[in-house]
Amino acid sequence: MGRTKVVVIGAGPAGLTVANLLHRAGIDCLVLERETREFIEQRARAGFIEEWAVRELERHGLADGLLRRAPTQGSFEFRVDGVRHQFDYAELTGHRHFVYPQQELVKDLLTGYPGPIQFSVEDIRLHDLATSPSVTYAGQRVDCDFVAGCDGARGICQSYVPATITRHDYGIGWLALLAEAPPSARSVVFGIHPLGFAGHMARTPSVTRYYLQCSPGDTADDWPDDRVWTQLRTRLAVPGEPIIDGPLIEKRVLPMHNYVLDRMSAGRLHLAGEAAHLVAPIAAKGMNLAIHDALLLTRGIAAWYDGDPSTLDGYSAACLGRVWQYQEFSLWLSDLFHGSRDPFTHQLIQARLRRLLNSRKAAESFAEIYIGQHADF
Ligand SMILES: Cc1cc2nc3c(=O)[nH]c(=O)nc-3n(C[C@H](O)[C@H](O)[C@H](O)COP(=O)(O)OP(=O)(O)OC[C@H]3O[C@@H](n4cnc5c(N)ncnc54)[C@H](O)[C@@H]3O)c2cc1C
Repeated sequence: MGRTKVVVIGAGPAGLTVANLLHRAGIDCLVLERETREFIEQRARAGFIEEWAVRELERHGLADGLLRRAPTQGSFEFRVDGVRHQFDYAELTGHRHFVYPQQELVKDLLTGYPGPIQFSVEDIRLHDLATSPSVTYAGQRVDCDFVAGCDGARGICQSYVPATITRHDYGIGWLALLAEAPPSARSVVFGIHPLGFAGHMARTPSVTRYYLQCSPGDTADDWPDDRVWTQLRTRLAVPGEPIIDGPLIEKRVLPMHNYVLDRMSAGRLHLAGEAAHLVAPIAAKGMNLAIHDALLLTRGIAAWYDGDPSTLDGYSAACLGRVWQYQEFSLWLSDLFHGSRDPFTHQLIQARLRRLLNSRKAAESFAEIYIGQHADF
């Protein structure tokens, strides 16, 4: 039996940010992760981090690798009917995305965290969350003041919070691809096409992420490499900018769906990141929300140890405001990306795009939420 102040379940972006911030605040914690270190250091997912999140990580000394190695992007391109429409959100907001593969951030956060962490931990259970929590696993028990439930969409912590879960299913899938090929364009490209959406996002100079809208019931076997490249070339076609192909090192179908718990805490258990809310990667928001939660949660726990429980009491409400803003934006963007198969909605999309591209006020409003606003932590 052992004791620590906070047990953090899950070593993804949320859990590792919480652990690092707690450690820097002088609050002991223990991180328990189900997978091996090698596995989580190679799990490729997100890539676009909003500038406010980078600045917060920087403020806590957690962004050295990111600032050294991540290129920034402040514009993207819509491609519709073979025409390119550049959208420069850095010019409108003064802020940019940092392009840094999620696994690189995870590696940096693991390297920066000198506290205890255990990998390959199975069968975690939580007890007495109302008053004096403890966590058991593999015949061990750890008593603590708080549990930070950061174990993602398939973790166990969510089931301990008696919350109402609201869900939205887009009824579509995205074939998520990673190609060992240099980017085919200088910026992110959103291809709006009657055959379905296609996306292009640089990850590194030699690896590019692509997305293809597909049926949610498709499997990777439905998408042989030839079909992938033909569809990408068709849906992203513009004169003079060929799609550069290469070996596909990841190919998997993501069902596009969202969920949000109406409360993120139960007694001394507080959820952060995808344990509490999932937003389909349409607007690249999930990891940014995970970091946002982590910042608020550690602020609340630190205040609690300083004798002020009110910040932690307001934790759910403080997180869920941004969560719902990003959910609404993702849905709005989804309508833009996915409606072109029907001629009527294709015209509505054209009208929406014209407004976005021709009205500075509409563009500013879009840009503000696309890059996310800094919050006061
Ligand atoms: C293809 C793709 C592209 C994306 N692109 C972007 C992007 O550009 N920008 C963006 O902001 N977001 C993006 N996202 C979303 C982003 O990857 C997630 O939102 C982010 O990983 C959430 O972080 P998290 O820490 O909450 O959860 P996770 O990253 O899922 O971490 C949870 C951790 O808990 C561990 N765990 C699970 N169960 C247990 C258990 N029972 N016990 C112990 N440990 C457990 C898991 O192994 C994992 O390490 C993308 C997602 C995908 C799939």
